[in-house]
Amino acid sequence: SSLEETLLSAIRTIPDYPKPGILFRDITTLLGNARAFRRAIDELVHPYAGQKIDKIAGIEARGFILGGAIAHQLSAGFIPIRKKGKLPHETVRVAYSLEYGLDEMEMHKDAVTPGEKVILVDDLIATGGTAEGATKLLRQMGADIVAACFVIDLPDLGGRSKLEALGVDVRTLIA
Ligand code: 5GP
Repeated sequence: SSLEETLLSAIRTIPDYPKPGILFRDITTLLGNARAFRRAIDELVHPYAGQKIDKIAGIEARGFILGGAIAHQLSAGFIPIRKKGKLPHETVRVAYSLEYGLDEMEMHKDAVTPGEKVILVDDLIATGGTAEGATKLLRQMGADIVAACFVIDLPDLGGRSKLEALGVDVRTLIA
């Protein structure tokens, strides 16, 4: 079957989660499906095979799972971008907008050295607020963001355009 069918059928939709009126795209079923998980990772990495990618930055928490697998495939290091207060060493912090409200995320100051080539990874892009915050942190520390990769794009929410307006190359597998 096509990649799109494989991935779409492996994602579960949960109505009214985490709040009434929200349709949550649950990727735990994709992660639990060996074939779908492998195909998603293979598809995300193939444009970068043979390129020198220094680090993969994954956004807590689902971006850690995908990002770890991608880092291994590309022989890159991994950077966790976390909700505030979770990282033990000196951090840079940024406020970012969520669909409902504001939050803050952090990255270790020494996680990137200037000029390093970094790919940002998360499971899904909606409004793009989360990925925009992560982009700011990485660039503040001098990262060269090669691309931002997501399994799922919710195009009506405009995240892709928001990131592209910042000059980030966006790669998504299904909409
Ligand atoms: P954004 O900041 O682009 O509006 O929202 C994207 C962030 O919220 C990502 O970190 C993503 O994991 C999470 N998110 C928002 N909606 C969903 C959803 O329906 N399913 C999943 N798996 N994550 C979501």
